[in-house]
Amino acid sequence: MSFDSFNLHPLISAGVVSAGYTTPTSIQSKSIPPILEGHDLLGLAQTGTGKTAAFVLPILQRLLVGPRGRLRALILAPTRELAEQTHAAIQVLGRKTGLRSLTLYGGVSALPQVKALRAGAEIAVACPGRLLDLMAQKAVSLSAVEVLVIDEADRMFDMGFLPDIRRILAALPPRRQTLLFSATMPAEIRSLATDGLHQPVTVEVGARRPVETVSHAIYPIEPERKYDTLLALVSQAGNGQVLVFTRTKHRAKKLALQLSKAGLAAKSLQGNLSQNQRQEVMDGFRNGRVKVMVATDIASRGIDVSQISHVINYDMPDTADTYTHRIGRTGRMARQGTALTLVTREDLPTLRTIEHLLGYPIERRELA
Ligand code: AMP
Repeated sequence: MSFDSFNLHPLISAGVVSAGYTTPTSIQSKSIPPILEGHDLLGLAQTGTGKTAAFVLPILQRLLVGPRGRLRALILAPTRELAEQTHAAIQVLGRKTGLRSLTLYGGVSALPQVKALRAGAEIAVACPGRLLDLMAQKAVSLSAVEVLVIDEADRMFDMGFLPDIRRILAALPPRRQTLLFSATMPAEIRSLATDGLHQPVTVEVGARRPVETVSHAIYPIEPERKYDTLLALVSQAGNGQVLVFTRTKHRAKKLALQLSKAGLAAKSLQGNLSQNQRQEVMDGFRNGRVKVMVATDIASRGIDVSQISHVINYDMPDTADTYTHRIGRTGRMARQGTALTLVTREDLPTLRTIEHLLGYPIERRELA
């Protein structure tokens, strides 16, 4: 299947090209046609599957015709990071459409957000709390909303946002298209879907997080064996490209230097780099000159290299979500990926939490 089969407007197809997408992902093939037809949709998909474009593209197509300057699409996101990511995706995919997107979330001044609302936009990506505040101040009108997306609904539920979401639902025009995405379907989300969606089409990709094309395992080791173990794992990766995660930027920098001294084409990607340096490292990784990239979670945002064969957690991620997010960097586009995590004694409580949330134990491995 290709993107052509969706018959997207050429201005939107241009966005797909600038995003560098050539083949739709599974969730995109399954969701885009029913969303374009106007159906409500219940999407069971986790981060890393391409779910954002699965709803953004049909929304852009819908908004291309009709009035401008009114909020016609509302996307609810649990965190400001996700809101920003989604907004960024809209800007890339919708670059040629002239449609405007803005973000609304707490923890920052509301003033610029109110100004942006006044200036006019067709799409808002919002966290529930700030949206409700702005609604209470009459700074935002939802009366023209035609499409609602509830993204990462299970995380919203975990964070206690469901009552907020229900209040927002109650304030929206009842005649609208509603799309709900969630990686899991606890009873509360099912009931939200029953109340908020109208005869939804259900699509599902990969029943369990993380994505199925990633095989993952942990290496229980003593802390002082970390570096040697990493070297062994990198050499086992053969010709593949390896993304290594550390907890801090200092550790990323130090580790990349150590690996370079050991003769590996390694670079670090961390917050201390200038935009040019960052670009240089990214280009090196994309064109394969850099084999090992050492990064922190923050710096790694936006790394989108489909040939990453191995993700190695040199330092354990602190939440299941970060774990899923990190290992979703490999196994992209149905290529087989491997995600390995070095686990020391002090990481065991975190590991237990992650396994609990995943719902199964992660395979233990030992170096030969
Ligand atoms: P998401 O699950 O929406 O967070 O997307 C995960 C990553 O996949 C993002 O970095 C997207 O840019 C990328 N992506 C989404 N759709 C495609 C596609 N059809 N081809 C290649 N990359 C994609």
